[in-house]
Amino acid sequence: MKVVKSVKEMHLISGQLRLDGKKIGFVPTMGYLHEGHLSLVRKSKENSDITVVSIFVNPTQFAPTEDLDKYPRDFERDEMLLNQENVDFLFYPDKDEIYPEGFSTFVEVGEITKVLEGESRPNHFKGVTTIVSILFNIVKPHYSVFGQKDAQQASVIRKMTSDLHFDIEIEIAPIVREKDGLAMSSRNVYLNQKEREDALVLSKSLYLAEDLIKKGERDFNVIKEKMIGVISQAETAYLDYIQAVESDSFSKVNLFEKGKSYFVLIACRIGRTRLIDNLLIQIN
Ligand code: AMP
Repeated sequence: MKVVKSVKEMHLISGQLRLDGKKIGFVPTMGYLHEGHLSLVRKSKENSDITVVSIFVNPTQFAPTEDLDKYPRDFERDEMLLNQENVDFLFYPDKDEIYPEGFSTFVEVGEITKVLEGESRPNHFKGVTTIVSILFNIVKPHYSVFGQKDAQQASVIRKMTSDLHFDIEIEIAPIVREKDGLAMSSRNVYLNQKEREDALVLSKSLYLAEDLIKKGERDFNVIKEKMIGVISQAETAYLDYIQAVESDSFSKVNLFEKGKSYFVLIACRIGRTRLIDNLLIQIN
């Protein structure tokens, strides 16, 4: 695996790969890698000739009050893990390489970015779509994989890719979980032992929702009340939102209809750590 730090060099490499007729797969990350990230890498390797992974903790998607400075980092470990997966290129630019002095151009997606994560974290998606556009332009992938863990982000990227006519196939890969159900996240490292136990209420409440839907419940308000009951069992949990949305448009729903698919999404602070999780459901 070759580590590339300069934008200019990455441009040259991806340009040449395209001239050589190679299909480039791309997995953007913020590092501190876990099995969730590696599942995306494996998907990219299955579906392309050359896989590029980027590690860049993107400052423009963090609010001043958020955890940019303490976001976990371990480049050596990440490099080793990606080597083991036989990744071809690791793009690892410095902040100033991506955002030189005077940078002032942003990419903003409409409606879908205004709800849920967009409401709780204003400007977050503007930072995400800006960095992903920049990385798409540098890496020039044919194919790029995102995780359902960040379901709204994945939909925002799909919308941006379609609206801006990026000629890139976007794939969304399922959530990878710890054995006890907690969705893997780089931020889980912030949790102390008590919080780690409490964090299970996210996945537990989603499993409860799944069970109720399987048993025929179609009223999301009924389901939500029961989910809140699960969350309230954890002392350190502070609920941000629980919401059901149509899986394509992300418009909010209260009643599930036959033949449609939905996300049930949850965002919850466990102590000082904000965690998100979701469930994709198909109503038959
Ligand atoms: P991040 O490093 O948090 O920016 O995540 C990079 C990519 O990995 C995003 O597309 C995430 O949705 C995806 N990802 C993060 N956690 C998981 C997980 N537990 N399962 C699957 N994909 C994940």
